[in-house]
Amino acid sequence: MISKQHFLEALEIINKMFPEAHGELNWESPFQLLVATILSAQATDKGVNKATPALFERFPTVESMAQADVAEIEQYTRTIGLYHTKSRNIKKTAQMLLDWGYTDSLPQDKKQLQLLPGVGRKTANVVLGEVYGIPGIAVDTHVERVSKRLQLVKQEASVSEVEEKLMKVIPESQWISAHHHLIFFGRYHCLAKNPKCEECPVISYCKFGQERLGHDI
Ligand code: SF4
Repeated sequence: MISKQHFLEALEIINKMFPEAHGELNWESPFQLLVATILSAQATDKGVNKATPALFERFPTVESMAQADVAEIEQYTRTIGLYHTKSRNIKKTAQMLLDWGYTDSLPQDKKQLQLLPGVGRKTANVVLGEVYGIPGIAVDTHVERVSKRLQLVKQEASVSEVEEKLMKVIPESQWISAHHHLIFFGRYHCLAKNPKCEECPVISYCKFGQERLGHDI
């Protein structure tokens, strides 16, 4: 397992590799970010960004989405995986927000957000961090993979164990930025299938990469 100090050193290098790392979903209101994030589960941000302009033009607000026919929402989301379930969840989420009295904002409480259909820990963390700057670390597939390859956690660790460990090791003031940096590092460098170990500036911290190259040579 990597030590806290070495992980933070590696993270510092990763930060410098992607100083501009940021959320890549397009949105113009807190509700739109919530919808886009629900749609992005097991899908790419690019795919979501292709679908959401037309969806948000047709249903721009919480009120309009709450009144929408699910079948019509699906016409806009059908290019995205699991769109049946996600479309139903988006409508129900809009209805619940309306019931709670949220039209221009969102609950700023992680537990309350997770009561919304299709909203788990990751989505709640993303939305609260992006919209309200509330510290959190959203563990998506990239953050999980990088954390495991750098041996911050055991390979069998659950997503919430990865999140807990990252929150323990990284200072709270850096949670939101670290989450963006780790996502960019996983998405563009430490790829799932072909990680760029040959040109990786953190390979000295990464047994996975060292062994992989050793085996390749
Ligand atoms: Fe990822 Fe390879 Fe770098 Fe390790 S050495 S962090 S596996 S790219």
